[in-house]
Amino acid sequence: MTKRDYYEILGVEKNATETEIKRAYRRLAVKFHPDKNPDDKEAEEKFKEAAEAYSVLSDAQKKSQYDRFGHSGLGGQGGYDPGFSNIEDIFDLFGFGDMFGGGGRRRSTVQRGADLRYDLEITLEEAAQGKDAKIDVPRLEKCEPCEGKGTAEGSSPETCITCSGSGQTRYQQGFFSVMRTCPNCSGKGQIIKNPCSECKGAGRIQSSKTLEVKIPAGVETGSRLRVSGEGEAGVNGGPTGDLYVFVHVAEHDTFERQGTNLYTSAPISFAQAALGAEITVKTLEGEEELKIPAGTQTGTVFRIKGGGMPDLGGRGKGELYVAVTVMTPKSLNKDQRALFENLADIEDVEFEEEGFMDRVRNIFG
Ligand SMILES: [Zn+2]
Ligand SMILES: [Zn+2]
Repeated sequence: MTKRDYYEILGVEKNATETEIKRAYRRLAVKFHPDKNPDDKEAEEKFKEAAEAYSVLSDAQKKSQYDRFGHSGLGGQGGYDPGFSNIEDIFDLFGFGDMFGGGGRRRSTVQRGADLRYDLEITLEEAAQGKDAKIDVPRLEKCEPCEGKGTAEGSSPETCITCSGSGQTRYQQGFFSVMRTCPNCSGKGQIIKNPCSECKGAGRIQSSKTLEVKIPAGVETGSRLRVSGEGEAGVNGGPTGDLYVFVHVAEHDTFERQGTNLYTSAPISFAQAALGAEITVKTLEGEEELKIPAGTQTGTVFRIKGGGMPDLGGRGKGELYVAVTVMTPKSLNKDQRALFENLADIEDVEFEEEGFMDRVRNIFG
């Protein structure tokens, strides 16, 4: 079954504010709550669906992933966060946990690790051949000695005395009683009295990992590769984020690229242009012979079939286009000068005017 759009589920616009999203979810959650709809499978499904939509759209990071990539952007793990599976947890998010007699419960502090971006520059040759790139990714990793718990060996977190583990304290102001994030535990509901010496209780440490990333042949600037589960470690046992490698292909001295085609130029002499010749052209993979017919004009473009870049999807290769430029000699030796003078004496050339302006336009293009 294809998943419904999260915005559609909650009945809000794509540009809905945090408050609108929260309000829409609250309305649905109350309407389809299992306590109100006992033994109603459809209501239960609707309730779960809304909870899933809300768990994504209320999380800035997951929301932006979803906005950009849709359901697939959540990598199959961002959807229904098991941390929210308990109905009371969902309601605790709004601070109305005792609405259904649930009592104040600590909110979940399980978080998915952040996605990371790595910018990788490669040469045009590497883009053409593909590459196993070794990259060093600085990132927060799970602290091994405490397994991410943040506590020293043999100890465990203690329930915060100030808020009795709810993460919130009630604060009386005149007639009103206001709920505030507990200042003692910063809303976690737990205090680590005996922190892990390695991570000082954070559960994660700044580290760096060398990864080998397969860059497929045919990538271009802007190509983005997702390496699942190689982002930042999650908090309190939450899942790891993903790593996105952004590819930049460096400019090349000889070749200009457009999609899968490559463009280059080659100089030829007066004599070669007039008499025809076979010249050697530099290609991405080496050299290739190119036949220049007699009477070739400057700016004429020749095609070397399959001399371009491979298609990223594996559908063959592009072409290499070679524009020739007829080079006028800058200095002549005695013999050459004599020959050119001879030529000038007998020359009686009718230059064809047709197409001349087109060539001029192409050159200044
Ligand atoms: Zn507390
Ligand atoms: Zn630790």
